[in-house]
Amino acid sequence: MARVLIVEDEKHLAEGLRFNLEAEGYEVTLASDGETALDLIQQEGRSFEAIVLDVMLPGKDGFEVAQVLRTAGCYIPILMLTARSRPEDVLRGFEAGADDYLPKPFELRILIARLSGLLRRREWFRLTEDLAAQTPDDKPPGDIFHFSGKSIDFNSLVLRAGERVVQLTLMEADLLRFLVMHQGEVVSRRQILEDVWDLKEDTDTRAIDNFVVRLRRYIEDDPSTPRHLITIRGVGYRFVAEPGQ
Ligand code: CA
Repeated sequence: MARVLIVEDEKHLAEGLRFNLEAEGYEVTLASDGETALDLIQQEGRSFEAIVLDVMLPGKDGFEVAQVLRTAGCYIPILMLTARSRPEDVLRGFEAGADDYLPKPFELRILIARLSGLLRRREWFRLTEDLAAQTPDDKPPGDIFHFSGKSIDFNSLVLRAGERVVQLTLMEADLLRFLVMHQGEVVSRRQILEDVWDLKEDTDTRAIDNFVVRLRRYIEDDPSTPRHLITIRGVGYRFVAEPGQ
């Protein structure tokens, strides 16, 4: 039974979610503000398997809560609830470390589908990891991408660059996978928004640049002069695996 933490200050909505998720077999804990959520996660030994996190909360908002957790090295999958009228919140959410998002108001069955999708992916990543640990010689190749002495393991979501070991969120891994699949090509911001994050609304595409800044901190030796993740002015980005070859 998956344990889920719901962080939502609208009591009516929070109770409704608890009722319905419990009916689906989840074990649900409610928190009505960010501080309470962070306390609960610390107390419970981080034993939640997913967090449904509303953006608009009293005190610390959802962005801050996600950021505190990720900074502390806590990678519980986060499904963020955003306002439909503010698609830029989605990018802020990803920046803060959210794994998926759902604009409000949403249909309950969609939330349940997204939540179980998130848990399934985490579970799948964990299973492949266990399998790999048991049979190192039979480990299927292909899901670790090596470039310039660095590596991205798309199963365990671990990026290694020299001494640096970064635990990626699911969404970061999705974006990196997209860039790797299109390496050498120019991909537009619009393409990234639509193909990676399924954002079809009229999002301000410049907001994506902040996200790229973060990926550069992971993969570039000197993030101020990127050699892997190149900006193509007025168009988008190009990922180069082995610069200078
Ligand atoms: Ca709220």
